[in-house]
Amino acid sequence: MAKKITKKTSKTASKAAAENSKGAEVQVAAVMKEDLPEKEIPAPESAVTVPEEAVPTASAEAVIQEPASGGPLTRDAEAPEITEPSQPEAEHAAPVEPAAEEDVPQSSAEFAAPEEIAATPRKSVAFIGSECYPFVKTGGLGDVMYALPKALVKQNCDVRVILPRYKCIHWEYQEKMVYRGAFDMDLCADGRRYYVGIMEYVWDGVVYDFIDNEEFFAWGNPYTDLVQDIPKYCYFAKAALAALNYMDWIPDIIHCHDWQAALVPVYLRTQFEHTALSSAKTILTIHNLRFQGVYNIPTVRYWSGLPDYVFDLGALKTGYNDANMLKGGLAYANVITTVSQTYAGEIQTAFYGESLDGHLRYHSAKLRGIVNGIDYDIWNPNTDTRLYENYDIATVLDKKKENKRKLQEELGLAQDDQKFVIGLISRLTNQKGLDLVNAIIPDIMDGNTQIVVLGTGDQMYEDSFRYYESAYRGSVCSNIMYDETRAHRIYAGADALLVPSLFEPCGLTQLIAMHYGTVPIVRETGGLKDTVTPYNMFSNTGNGFTFDRYEAGLLLDAINRAKELYFNSRWCWDELVQRDMDKILSWQNSAKQYKELYLDLAR
Ligand code: ADP
Repeated sequence: MAKKITKKTSKTASKAAAENSKGAEVQVAAVMKEDLPEKEIPAPESAVTVPEEAVPTASAEAVIQEPASGGPLTRDAEAPEITEPSQPEAEHAAPVEPAAEEDVPQSSAEFAAPEEIAATPRKSVAFIGSECYPFVKTGGLGDVMYALPKALVKQNCDVRVILPRYKCIHWEYQEKMVYRGAFDMDLCADGRRYYVGIMEYVWDGVVYDFIDNEEFFAWGNPYTDLVQDIPKYCYFAKAALAALNYMDWIPDIIHCHDWQAALVPVYLRTQFEHTALSSAKTILTIHNLRFQGVYNIPTVRYWSGLPDYVFDLGALKTGYNDANMLKGGLAYANVITTVSQTYAGEIQTAFYGESLDGHLRYHSAKLRGIVNGIDYDIWNPNTDTRLYENYDIATVLDKKKENKRKLQEELGLAQDDQKFVIGLISRLTNQKGLDLVNAIIPDIMDGNTQIVVLGTGDQMYEDSFRYYESAYRGSVCSNIMYDETRAHRIYAGADALLVPSLFEPCGLTQLIAMHYGTVPIVRETGGLKDTVTPYNMFSNTGNGFTFDRYEAGLLLDAINRAKELYFNSRWCWDELVQRDMDKILSWQNSAKQYKELYLDLAR
């Protein structure tokens, strides 16, 4: 079972502030060992221990100018005094031993790339973001932070992922992290200093460095409300850069994700401008423009310690007196990407732009879309240990029925593999088109259709799905929870998956569904439009059922078209299922595009 941690909103936080924080909408899965198939449980690949003397403690400005292995270490003339960590070291448990030969950090260089890929120049990339499967995940960002670095290793990249060391990360991973070092860093406008610990973990050729500070990351879940989150992610952005400096690892590219890491490019071009790191180019990827990290300027100025000139309308300032962390990052990043081409266009319009459309149009020359993929090691119906029955494209038609029957049994639905089972796996928020779904459930229920919902989020949606479960007992099952295993079983056991989003930057659920032979029914927006080709009944082509305007009647029409095919032209439906399973949805193509982007940038 995934560990569920319900969001707690501080009473002092304003409602607007809470709405701005992604944590206000979600529950968090700190994925536990038992959530992962045995083979997926990572083991540390190297014990990385660094003697305290080998690398000096450093504040943000205290730059190591010589490689640790080289001659004497010098620092910037103006660098403040370096101080010892203020948190007791005992708490940061791992023993500090002299680095043995085999203890040298294991880089992805050791993972041989295929010849043609190895022929492209090697690039080093630091990924900085607020969540990453399997350590902590609330949605698609967590999936991407895990799968893309892994795919980039295969594209001849050296990848280091910098994450907060949240307390909710399961002990299974916590205890395998290795102490890498610690230092004190000045953060706030008044020079207040904070401890920065680095705990390291190496897995699948990717190095994960966790920024450790109990004051900021001791909460049960990553996102709470902006009162907590603004200081937390100011600290995280600066500490991530200071940690790279401290480790003397100067990447070609610093790739930041969403507002929680958006201050990284701003710090890099201000407080880190005269450090070795400033040679790196920055990319900021927008996974969801709705979340921007907006708070009043005095608070952000105090916590970030950033100079006054960045609180300008061209950068962080928004409205009369607010600072927008994402907006600042977009202004300072060398390149902006988002997770589909359609969404890259949409966010430059007023409807989808979340008040940043003008800013994005201004920076459109450096904006591009690269669609997400899915990790075939985790999402593979043929090897997925969470499924009742494994299957591939040759066996899907029979085995899906077995998965369906067992799912129906587990969820207390009428067991009948001829029923049309519609799944919905989603955060329950208004982004996901749930108003449309709620409006038409009575019209969908025809005695031959079942609905399985899995999700958590806004009370209003949770309650309405609970209501429908009681109104249509045996035909509707609402799982108001976060549960990885159940998600896998629904992908395998359902016939169709609903994704009728109001907006959808990329969307992963429709990709996973297709790979599991489950036909997506989606609204034509963002990544849904880019990844699902509408079914054409005349040519018997396409991957799913789509509708364009955000209207309940159009969603109902798309569902009815799907049902029509399922009940009346089953051979066409079966071909559609197999076509979906055959579609290439892995990260390989997208990782290649990112690699090309890195090469362009570093040129
Ligand atoms: P978003 O990032 O907007 O939440 P995505 O479609 O990009 O949406 O990613 C959602 C991811 O979270 C998918 O991997 C999906 O399977 C997973 N997910 C969403 N809700 C749940 C849930 N209640 N239980 C398990 N997994 C979930």
